[in-house]
Amino acid sequence: MDIIVIQPDTPEENIRHILKKLESKGLSANISRGTERTIIGVIGDTSKVTDDEEHAIKAMPGVENVLRILKPYKLASRDFKKTPTLIDVDGVIIGGNKIQVMAGPCSVENRSNIVSIAEKVKSAGATILRGGAFKPRTSPYAFQGLGEEGLKYLAEAKKKTGLPIITEVMDPRDLEVICEYTDIIQIGTRNMQNFRLLLEVGSVNKPVLLKRGLSATIKEWLMSAEYIMSRGNHNVMLCERGIRTFETATRNTLDLSAVPLLKQLTHLPVVVDPSHGVGKWDLVAPMSRAAVAVGADALIIEVHTNPEEAFSDGEQSLRPEMFTQLMDDLKRVAQAVGREI
Ligand code: PEP
Ligand code: MN
Repeated sequence: MDIIVIQPDTPEENIRHILKKLESKGLSANISRGTERTIIGVIGDTSKVTDDEEHAIKAMPGVENVLRILKPYKLASRDFKKTPTLIDVDGVIIGGNKIQVMAGPCSVENRSNIVSIAEKVKSAGATILRGGAFKPRTSPYAFQGLGEEGLKYLAEAKKKTGLPIITEVMDPRDLEVICEYTDIIQIGTRNMQNFRLLLEVGSVNKPVLLKRGLSATIKEWLMSAEYIMSRGNHNVMLCERGIRTFETATRNTLDLSAVPLLKQLTHLPVVVDPSHGVGKWDLVAPMSRAAVAVGADALIIEVHTNPEEAFSDGEQSLRPEMFTQLMDDLKRVAQAVGREI
């Protein structure tokens, strides 16, 4: 017994009784209060709970189901939830038949630049606008992002185009202001195991895109999703963005095998970031096509009107015309695998 699913609208008193019962067996609990359902994760050695005791808990008022899940990640696992999770971002559904494309510059640079890129990616068919305002740069001397000013420009681009926004949070201290503007919170590769940050985003009511850590295994990545979900935020999507291998010819090695594997292991939507995965603009289109072919639910692609002058990641950014062409090609790939875009 690892997970106790609580019936909707169960009074607090019934939940307290369940917790007391667990305590009496030497167990404790993590309560994940989601918008749709409350789930109790049982902490401790659950193998000592007998079948009879488990049946007794199942019969308690408020208990919908009691599950044993062998995987270390519970709420994120397919064993816990068989149907794919659909994440609704302002009417844009991620995880359904339609593949969503998030596009925009690596960094928000100024008002006119982000507005103009937003208009261009929108007319090419993108459904979500990306842009970093708080940037995780390897060098402290590199452009660090515009901070809140960047968020304001993103909001203006959203107002002009209607595109929902995704932007990165690096520090729990910035979370509140970022949530005032963004529709999806991005956790970058360098923070995949920043557990305090994961718990903080787990406590807010906004979808989270969790990028795979630079050298993270699939299991570690799913455990990080579990951290977020354990706090009640069940709207998590996983983003493959390349991992570090011995190969240096590309920026990272885009692990597309992760996509169909994740589809077996988890019900969460899977996103692919070919831009950071390869680091070279001319490899972005072929890897995007491949990502759609292997079953990605969404793509996140860097687009810039003038890549040579970009403040960050110009070498991997597509010009709007190339992005438009790519969107056209992706339609046919999507159709071939029974999806739309
Ligand atoms: C980004 O999306 O611009 C970014 C910094 O990504 P990652 O965390 O994957 O490096
Ligand atoms: Mn980037």
